[in-house]
Amino acid sequence: MPPIKLIKQGNCTLEAIENPSPLAIDIKYSLGIGGGSNVILIETDRRVLVDTGFEYESRQGPGDLDRNEKHLIRALADCGYTPDDIDAVFITHWHLDHFGNLRVFPKAEPIASSSLVEEVGLEDFTGVDDGEEIAEKVKVMFTPGHTREHASLLLDSAIRVAVAGDVIVSLSYFDKGKLWKYNQDFYSIEEGLSSMKRLAESSDLIIPGHGLPFLTYLPEWIR
Ligand SMILES: [Zn+2]
Repeated sequence: MPPIKLIKQGNCTLEAIENPSPLAIDIKYSLGIGGGSNVILIETDRRVLVDTGFEYESRQGPGDLDRNEKHLIRALADCGYTPDDIDAVFITHWHLDHFGNLRVFPKAEPIASSSLVEEVGLEDFTGVDDGEEIAEKVKVMFTPGHTREHASLLLDSAIRVAVAGDVIVSLSYFDKGKLWKYNQDFYSIEEGLSSMKRLAESSDLIIPGHGLPFLTYLPEWIR
């Protein structure tokens, strides 16, 4: 089996077939669907956590920060880890639902694409380039689209796994060839589709930014 684990499954507030509206988000929130990102652990020569999850990103009071942190620490504990066991945290893009719990990992090396590090001014971060290896068998792929500085990871083990981040926000977005484009810093549909295609061509399994992982296939819009 590949040395990778979904530590915490983030859910997708709106799938590609749903009409995006504030009411739809309110209904999902009231059901307890808070939209935090998937949190993934890759363990080869070191332990790399990909994204940190943060649910209900519009709610950021001290109680909400605490609740999110506890939730993540408990999810790690369920898999047998403490935050101090994590060597590095890779952030796919600078949205709170993906980096919100970063302060849980003061000892880990924070890593992101060199362009993100520069754009946001992330002084403590290690900036990495397209194709760079951040752990054994784990390579960075720049995947602009959902944001300009977005990056994904490719694990080359028994099977090839793409940890996509939000350039593939969920299975339904991949299937329909759609991008989550409701963010102010949305970058490009054309580049996003090209990034999705490259991820599909490089993987046997895709772990999207939100929702369930799925075996890679070529949907109609790629074929
Ligand atoms: Zn997200």
